[in-house]
Amino acid sequence: MPTQERIFSGIGVSHGIAIAPAYLVQLERPKVPERRIDPADAPAEQKRFELAVARVRQELSELKAKLEDKPETAAEEVTLLLDAHLAMISGSRLVRGALKRIADEGINAEWALDRVMRELADQFRALKDNYIATRIDDVEAVGNRLLRALLDLPYLSLDSVPLGGVVLAREISPADTALIDPRRIAGIATIHGGAAGHTAVVARSLGLPAVLGVDPAMLEHTAHAHLAIVDGIEGKLILNPSDATRVAYEKRLDDLKKDREALKEIAALPAVLKDGGDVILRANLELPREIEAIKSSGARGIGLFRTEFMFMNRSTLPSEEEQFEAISGIVKQMQGESVTFRTLDIGGDKLAKSVGEYLAEAANPALGLRAIRLSLKEPHLLRTQYRAMLRAGAFGPVRILLPMVTTAHEVEQARRMLNECWQDLKKEGKKLPDTLPPLGTMIEIPAAALSADSLAAVSDFFALGTNDLVQYTVAIDRGNDQVAALYNPLNPAVLRLMEFSIEAGKRAGIPVSICGEMGADPKYTALLLGLGIREFSVGFASLPRIKQRIRSLSLEKSEEHARHVMNQYDPARIIAVVNQFRP
Ligand code: PEP
Ligand code: MG
Repeated sequence: MPTQERIFSGIGVSHGIAIAPAYLVQLERPKVPERRIDPADAPAEQKRFELAVARVRQELSELKAKLEDKPETAAEEVTLLLDAHLAMISGSRLVRGALKRIADEGINAEWALDRVMRELADQFRALKDNYIATRIDDVEAVGNRLLRALLDLPYLSLDSVPLGGVVLAREISPADTALIDPRRIAGIATIHGGAAGHTAVVARSLGLPAVLGVDPAMLEHTAHAHLAIVDGIEGKLILNPSDATRVAYEKRLDDLKKDREALKEIAALPAVLKDGGDVILRANLELPREIEAIKSSGARGIGLFRTEFMFMNRSTLPSEEEQFEAISGIVKQMQGESVTFRTLDIGGDKLAKSVGEYLAEAANPALGLRAIRLSLKEPHLLRTQYRAMLRAGAFGPVRILLPMVTTAHEVEQARRMLNECWQDLKKEGKKLPDTLPPLGTMIEIPAAALSADSLAAVSDFFALGTNDLVQYTVAIDRGNDQVAALYNPLNPAVLRLMEFSIEAGKRAGIPVSICGEMGADPKYTALLLGLGIREFSVGFASLPRIKQRIRSLSLEKSEEHARHVMNQYDPARIIAVVNQFRP
């Protein structure tokens, strides 16, 4: 068992440090051993299989009981899932099929189970039924648990990591990350994932220290429950830290806590520039549980409400009432501060089972049917969202934002549907706001930036989505660790597209905000202000730091800095200019 300190570099994606025992979470399917057995041995093999079934049933029941003690977490969704898994393991086709194959085909339990899993998945897929298709994942999950039990391998899922542990995994999807309760898990480190991918975005929204893109060798050096340090600031994972390293990190953790305390005082202060200009600083919301933190961060409303969470970790679509309940609650809690709801942005690296039926497997999902394209193709998805959003508007100011827009025609279509929903709701006598909410456009595709003039003519506001704008401009997958070093928001092509969009917004007299992660890094604040941005929407954890930065800057100096940057064409030089800038 290795006890020597090992340092792995990765991509730091959140401003936090965790020092805690590490647990390897392995959700992948283990290699299946294939053995022929003697007919006389079949009963014993069946017995072995039944014991594994009993063990998994026990594991699932324990997990469920543990979640029931924590009603405030995402427990409800997970409990439903566990119930489905428990039902599946109680004499289902999966279990019956495996028992039968052991005897009929004379094969070992693992092989029999693997064959049934494949057979069921094929049959489900052939039925072309949305609900049934989503059960393939459940068969896979239960089957994997059974395989691990048969092979006597530990099955550690995200929700069974001991309290306060650090999770090490090959990959954690955005949907899985959304289920993490940051009070239970100290931090995460994974092999896959990039700084601007959605797993990173969700980790930041949870205030969870995270390092992604770590060398795969970390898996070989992880002994169960050994101490780990996740340094989400510098992007390091340290396994078995030496005493000196641990002490140094404990000191840094302490300093970080003091910093956070000091920054708390800034929440009550306005986001004004040194020479007096007012800046609007709002918060991004990923998950409803962030609302308290957003409110105490001093945010002037929610500038980006990602509605995807309502569609994740479930098999069926959320109804209008369900959506209305969830989002009107947030509007009420914001007590008069505006909430900008973005319509569904599923696709690419953000997948949700409930919309799986509409998204065929695609070779390039980032360029496929996603976001507004899906909403316009399946208008019932957009209508249901609009209706919930319009009704939520009766409780406070709301705005509606369209993701991944490419052409003005898309906005026109979306606006027509918004008007229709407004009229329908009026006829139905539903409680609505006095006026139709503003409809805005995300500028996150180069084509949108280059047609910003025509988009400004049909939009009430713009929001710059730099996470995607960078990805599509420089052709670098935002979530891919292999090319993460090439993901550069300061590429002059990106900056020119941003400048062009901001200018178009200004000419049309519509507000332009930034809600991508670029806006949450104080290094870029002067440049963004100098380019004309006066509205920022950032994760609540970044908000105090950005406000502090704004308060230290003057518009004059920021504009001079932006001019200096925009006169450069060499990306390396731009990075140097930005790093050297002092307010
Ligand atoms: C963006 O692309 O910058 C953005 C804010 O949207 P998301 O990160 O949800 O794709
Ligand atoms: Mg985006």
